Order: sequence, then structure tokens, then C-alpha cells
Amino acid sequence: MSGEIHHYHGDLPDGLDFGDSVAVDTETMGLNLQRDRLCLVQLSAGDGSAHLVQLAAEAYQAPRLKALLADPGVVKIFHYARFDVAMLRHHLGVDCGPLFCTKIASRLVRTYTDRHGLKDLCRELLGIELSKQQQSSDWGAATLSPQQLEYAASDVLHLHNLKSRLEEMLVRLGRAELAARLFAFLSTRAELDLAGWNDVDIFAHS
Ligand code: MN
Repeated sequence: MSGEIHHYHGDLPDGLDFGDSVAVDTETMGLNLQRDRLCLVQLSAGDGSAHLVQLAAEAYQAPRLKALLADPGVVKIFHYARFDVAMLRHHLGVDCGPLFCTKIASRLVRTYTDRHGLKDLCRELLGIELSKQQQSSDWGAATLSPQQLEYAASDVLHLHNLKSRLEEMLVRLGRAELAARLFAFLSTRAELDLAGWNDVDIFAHS
């Protein structure tokens, strides 16, 4: 099943096993948590295959997907978890965790650059060029194009390898514990974003 893109509607099928860590990304109608709906959830076990769950508006039950996202025995790997975790909380009512965020890890170890996009990480750490061409497309369409599905899949296929590389760097720099505490705080950060403190640095002096 390696290298395949599996496309489902409404929920994951029964009996899928992602092991002890799953890469996750979402596609939405936009970046506004209150206005824009969740359209697609992409998952990968890190085996080269992607599992895409397309969600129709107002049809957000997805019990198997929710169980996986909340499973304490499965680490969820995101790039910029803050947004996806808030979206998933808002639409599926699920508290995702435990978490690993490749963007936070990158900020903690790649202090020699301010470029922490997924494309930047894939290029530098894995030597892989990601295409971002379909990023701004209509994810709410009833039928997603093969190009959209391929793009959506590519966003989760490399997160396991990035996590491994970033973990090595976190250990080398003595920042793995700090990273773990930041990942644990993400759920609270997402809750603040949804409750209206999204534009506020709650730790700022003024
Ligand atoms: Mn994406």
C-alpha cells in the first residue's frame, strides 16, 4: 500500500492502523477559524501512503477519525499544529494529542534562519522539493481534482522523516524537553485562538 493515495468520504474506514505516530494536515476554506470550514483531513503512517478524509459541510461526525486524533497512544505530527488543532477542535470537537509540531521544532533548532515553512524544511533537511501550486484552491468543492489530492497527500508524506531529523537536532542542542512542554501547551493555545485571543500574545507586556 506504499505510495498510494486513499480517498474517503465522511470518515476513515474501519481497521486502519497507523502505528504509534501519524502525520496529520488539514485543508480548509481559509485561515479564519470562525468563518472557514474544514474540508479535508490528510493522514499518513510515514510509509509513503496517504489517507485523505473528505468532509462535507455540516457532516462532522467521523467517529473513527476522532478516536485516532484523541488516541493517547498515537503521536500526531503536524506542521504548524496550532492552526490544524484549533480547526479540528472547532469542527470535530476533538482535543488532538499527543502532539509534535515540526514548525515549533524547527524554530527551536534552526535558529540560523527565519524560514520555517514546510517547503523550506523539506528542501534543507530532506533534499525534497515540494510543490505548493494547489495550496490556494477550492477545498470545499464536492469533487477534488487529482492535482488537489496529490498536493494534499504531499503535505503529510514527509512529516515522519522531518520529525526524526528535528528530534536529532533537539537532542544535540539540549532542547527536547523544552519542545515537549511547548507541544503540550498547543492545546491551550488552540483553545485561546478559538475563544477570541487569536491575535493576542497573552504573555506580552502591552
Ligand atoms: Mn496542507
